[in-house]
Amino acid sequence: MTSSSKEIALKLDQQDSLNYLREEFIFPKTDSGKDFLYFAGNSLGLQPKQARKYLDQVFSKWASHAVEGHFFGEDPWITYNESVIPGICHLVGAQAHEVVAMNTLTINLHSMLISFFRPNGKRTKIVMESSAFPSDIYAVKSQLQFHNLDPRENIIELLPRQGESLLRDEDILKTIEQNKDSIALVLIGNVNYLTGQCYDMTQITQAAHKAGALVGFDLAHGVGNLNLNLHNIGSDFAIWCHYKYVNGGPGTIAGAFIHERHAQNKNIHRLAGWWGQNKQSRFQMGPDFDPIPGASGWQSSNPPVFQLAVLRSSLEIFQKTSMEKLKSKADQLTQYFEQLVDTSKVVEIITPRNPDKRGTQLSLRIPINGRGVLNSLKELGAICDFREPNVIRLAPAPLYTKFMDLYEFHEMLKKALKSP
Ligand SMILES: *Cc1c(COP(=O)(O)O)cnc(C)c1O
Repeated sequence: MTSSSKEIALKLDQQDSLNYLREEFIFPKTDSGKDFLYFAGNSLGLQPKQARKYLDQVFSKWASHAVEGHFFGEDPWITYNESVIPGICHLVGAQAHEVVAMNTLTINLHSMLISFFRPNGKRTKIVMESSAFPSDIYAVKSQLQFHNLDPRENIIELLPRQGESLLRDEDILKTIEQNKDSIALVLIGNVNYLTGQCYDMTQITQAAHKAGALVGFDLAHGVGNLNLNLHNIGSDFAIWCHYKYVNGGPGTIAGAFIHERHAQNKNIHRLAGWWGQNKQSRFQMGPDFDPIPGASGWQSSNPPVFQLAVLRSSLEIFQKTSMEKLKSKADQLTQYFEQLVDTSKVVEIITPRNPDKRGTQLSLRIPINGRGVLNSLKELGAICDFREPNVIRLAPAPLYTKFMDLYEFHEMLKKALKSP
């Protein structure tokens, strides 16, 4: 099997029509100067080679023109935030007025909760995964407290069935239906950060709306990963960061989607600020807030141009291809690795087997000393990430992963498990 699985990897790499995109990225290097195998793109994506060039342009313009950089040259800073909109639409399947780059992810979650979590009468509850990302849980609890609501009574947790580690879509829908009189908001993280599972966004959205609730998705692990079509899915909002699969740089500016059905409603409560103000009157500096229709009307501050510059470089890589093609390669990559593990049985994969039910991630349950195995892998030349107590997350991002990387990783994993 070993030699034939190597041949399969070589063949798949040869046939891969996206393999040229790997050249767009800088890989970290081992002590001996080799590229690391990099599978932590679900945590921090790699640096696009063009990023430094775009950053340098901002530095140069700042040096040569200072404040006039806002208005000068090809990419004036005053509209720099608009230059990333087409790239973001390409990623998430939205219309231009439905998306914006602003703030950071958790702040965008707070911002959306202020606007779209409006408890009223008996309708006070939020449905979310019991295994939601901790920052999302903290944000939701604090927002409930702002409304003087007890988090213990107002979060409806979605739990896997006894003995199972994944949530079933049908159970999510049933929970929404059963609590239809008390739910104000359904908030789902898609893809789940720990298991790599993704949920049926369209069905969840329809069920939430049927129940009279609003619905939002945290796409931290979904953006740049799933082939999304946010406009058609129809959720009220979505939020995400750009530093995981999108490769926009550590802690960089995040994104938000607000469906166009809310675009014209100026009365939605929000964290208002001058950058959300209608562009015609923004610099008249008047006291009355008149938001830009659509997602841009949720911007509070004048945007960080350095971060946007790096984001541009990464969005341009995505624009060379489509999310459909990337997801299809991702499925081939994860399926190839699954076959290796099915044969060797070195670890258990807790991610769903059906590629439609997962992103570009396989979560490996490590039987002993997970951290030790992670460290051995690093010594052998592979970077992944680890979540307590015993899960190694492997994210073979299709923009820069070769099938041979996975073949080599599997060989390393076998070694690392022998001497963790
Ligand atoms: C990565 C991640 C975060 C991180 O939030 P920041 O505000 O960017 O630090 C939050 N939620 C989820 C679901 C994540 O995956």
